[in-house]
Amino acid sequence: MAAVTRADFAPILLHRKELRRRDRLEPPVQWMLDMTGSSLFTPLVPGPGTTILDRQNYQRWKVIFGSYKFAHPKRSKRRLIVLQPLAYTSPDYPMAQVETVLLESLAGFCSVYFTGMEVVLDQPPLELSGVKKITKRVHRTTQREQLLVGDVTKYMKSQSQIKSFCLVGITLVDLYPSPYWNFTLGQASFSDGLAVCSFGRHFNSQLDGESPAASDLKKQINNMWVLIRVISHEIGHLFGLTHCFYFNCSMNESSTIDEAITQPLFLCPVCLRKLHKVLKFDVCRRYVLLREECSKLLQFIEEALKTDSVSNEDSKPEDTELTMKTSDPIIDGSVTDCPTANGDITNEEEIEQEGRESVCVTEYFKKSIQWLDECIATFNN
Ligand SMILES: [Zn+2]
Ligand SMILES: [Zn+2]
Repeated sequence: MAAVTRADFAPILLHRKELRRRDRLEPPVQWMLDMTGSSLFTPLVPGPGTTILDRQNYQRWKVIFGSYKFAHPKRSKRRLIVLQPLAYTSPDYPMAQVETVLLESLAGFCSVYFTGMEVVLDQPPLELSGVKKITKRVHRTTQREQLLVGDVTKYMKSQSQIKSFCLVGITLVDLYPSPYWNFTLGQASFSDGLAVCSFGRHFNSQLDGESPAASDLKKQINNMWVLIRVISHEIGHLFGLTHCFYFNCSMNESSTIDEAITQPLFLCPVCLRKLHKVLKFDVCRRYVLLREECSKLLQFIEEALKTDSVSNEDSKPEDTELTMKTSDPIIDGSVTDCPTANGDITNEEEIEQEGRESVCVTEYFKKSIQWLDECIATFNN
């Protein structure tokens, strides 16, 4: 199938009325349309038997979001995202929860990514251990406890006191979506305004060059990229965005942890248009703020790891980049579509034997900053 061209994107990005009056497009929308032909965004080739018109274009999203506003008039007007840390105290999980310093950085990043929304942390963490309503099992390969994700979101909802646009749980416990599935990295329900992101898989991986005695904080900091990638993706679902099949994009579906990590942090023009319609931010200013946030995060990570390596004799030298092993299977059980890979829990042993690649963690932030510089430059041309 031939690659799509810039001309293909006008009916995807624009409303029917806008297609007829292209000369009257608002400047941000014109910029997004121009960017569909830019080297900053790589179009995806449609899979066999599908065309790009089959997917959630701007018009389709607008209808879906309109129905949501009609069904939830109060919630849809709220401009508050609540991040709810979830704790789980168990010998299976030596790290019971994500460290506060990381959660604060994460809230700061989300408040820029979703410019126009206030993002708050609902502290203290909500304790999940000992909650009888939450179904558990022991995963046959990892031999660690897992919690049923639907029970976790129900419990979160029942305990939440804050009226918000959406509530997003953050946990280090492994979750599973149903008895037939291996595990899930995140699940989001647009209609309920509820999502939960699990980092149990990532945070329990051993990193290249990381001493087994490395502090919990160091292990968590090494996963900061994963945190912001997964949370921004899941909150994207809570704005009604389905998986993106137009460009390499933050909203792409991931069927492996490799994909979840290596996919872009930023939205393509089609997905950006949807978010912009709700939040009405200044597009250029948002990119400038994102650049600042990414630089702050990179500096924070580099300094924290340097400090940690001085206090830990077994660590690598300061100038050596830490890397993360990936390739675990994931299921992104978002509300919009079914996971496609590795549904049978017996598959995991085979998959874990496949080759693993090492990837620089800080490199993702550096590449994102470089990308943002190129993107911001387009506003000055
Ligand atoms: Zn997209
Ligand atoms: Zn998803």
